[in-house]
Amino acid sequence: MPTPEAVSVPGRRAARFAVADPATGETFDEAPDRHPDELDDVVARARRAWSGWRADPTARAAALRGAADAVERTGDDLARLLTREQGKPLAESYAEVARTAARLRYFAGLSPLTREIDDGRPVHSEIRWRPLGPVAAIVPWNFPLQLAAAKFAPALAAGNTVVLKPSPFTPLATRLLGFVLATALPQDVLTVVTGREPLGARLVSHPGIRHVTFTGSVPTGRAVAEAAAGSLTRTTLELGGNDAAVLLDDVDVEGIAERLFWAAFRNCGQVCMAVKRVYVPARLHAEVVEALAQHAKTVAVGPGLDPGTRMGPVNNAPQLARVEQLTQEALADGARAASGGHRLEGPGYFFAPTILTGVPPGSRVVTGEQFGPVLPVLSYRSLDEAVDAANGTRFGLGGSVWGTDLDRAEEVAGRLECGTAWINHHAELSLAQPFAGIKDSGVGVAGGPWGLYGNLRPFVVHRPREA
Ligand code: NAD
Repeated sequence: MPTPEAVSVPGRRAARFAVADPATGETFDEAPDRHPDELDDVVARARRAWSGWRADPTARAAALRGAADAVERTGDDLARLLTREQGKPLAESYAEVARTAARLRYFAGLSPLTREIDDGRPVHSEIRWRPLGPVAAIVPWNFPLQLAAAKFAPALAAGNTVVLKPSPFTPLATRLLGFVLATALPQDVLTVVTGREPLGARLVSHPGIRHVTFTGSVPTGRAVAEAAAGSLTRTTLELGGNDAAVLLDDVDVEGIAERLFWAAFRNCGQVCMAVKRVYVPARLHAEVVEALAQHAKTVAVGPGLDPGTRMGPVNNAPQLARVEQLTQEALADGARAASGGHRLEGPGYFFAPTILTGVPPGSRVVTGEQFGPVLPVLSYRSLDEAVDAANGTRFGLGGSVWGTDLDRAEEVAGRLECGTAWINHHAELSLAQPFAGIKDSGVGVAGGPWGLYGNLRPFVVHRPREA
């Protein structure tokens, strides 16, 4: 079977790096630590594979459907490995594997439209769409497989080849995914390269790369944009979020509390578009804090492989330290933890699900992205004040409004400055919708046909009309 991995540079011993199980904090496996110099060969191969891959859209779609089948057949192994290195409950890993296959199938069914322009001139103009070339896909550790698929499925469907670099915290399930996909795709159409920095930095600045599609934090996104500017490479950046949930005064607190809790704490809060701040009318504030704290105190936290677990550990030690630091800062600023507020005793990167109240609005846990199991609940006196606060950060990924009068909730949702707004839920996405953050949350559009066109360039042919 052809391997999807980089070949080693002759004479250089293949290095490896350790991968930890976040449920124990112990190393449980290793991954190849590819040297950046290997990228020349990887990108050259991706370039060579491109001419065959771009030539036949029908064969391409069939191969992508075959790839989706192969992912599903390997679902058990992928899901277990994903939980082991990422920490999420096994049921969530299965759901992630299913979404990975679904993305491949969805984009296999899309093709760009050739259009004609008829504007009265004696010329026949046709807009066709062409792929770009080798695409670099770089993803973070929170949803390693489905975020990778969100990048490679549209890029491949558009006729590009892909070099995919996972996070060094979660290289293993992606590596296995690469092997699985290689059973269905032609050689070198998708290559997985694992390794530590500066591997990603070298990949995004490689002159053979024609599109960099990156998901990760705002600071790294900025570095990626600067690096890609050197070769004027197209960039798509899906970056951090600090989504606000605004509760209206007619909200049914008991009816929404569980949904709101999980909108903030799914995947241990490590979701770009998790609810990261809640704004509540002053009259309802104590009731909402109490309802959320009840869920936080009773949720089953433990290793993702344990069948009873609903919430796993934080993925890695630096992120755990960051979550702890932001929480301690807020507590030092006068906030109170209605639940949690500390690490959990014992091994692993566990942090108690935390509901914070009385947080000063300027605290970093409100203005920044905590990306962990900590949720500040703030009170407001007027709706304008709440909307201004919700819009008052550098982020603009998503937002939600919760209330009983849906028309009013939709009117308020329309005032949120973000890419996607929800009413009475949060972070539900359709494969067919555009996904684009504003402000620091992103550049470019992913998802749906927009994601396909983001991997294509227009090519226009004019010819005289026949007499
Ligand atoms: P990160 O920015 O630290 O790393 C993301 C990826 O970039 C990793 O693979 C990393 O190895 C690589 N990288 C690091 N330095 C690089 C460089 N100089 N050049 C190129 N690549 C480099 O992010 P993270 O901590 O892994 O993930 C968490 C962040 O991702 C959060 O901010 C979260 O909101 C964001 N995120 C956004 C979305 C979205 O769709 N908008 C989705 C998921 C996560």
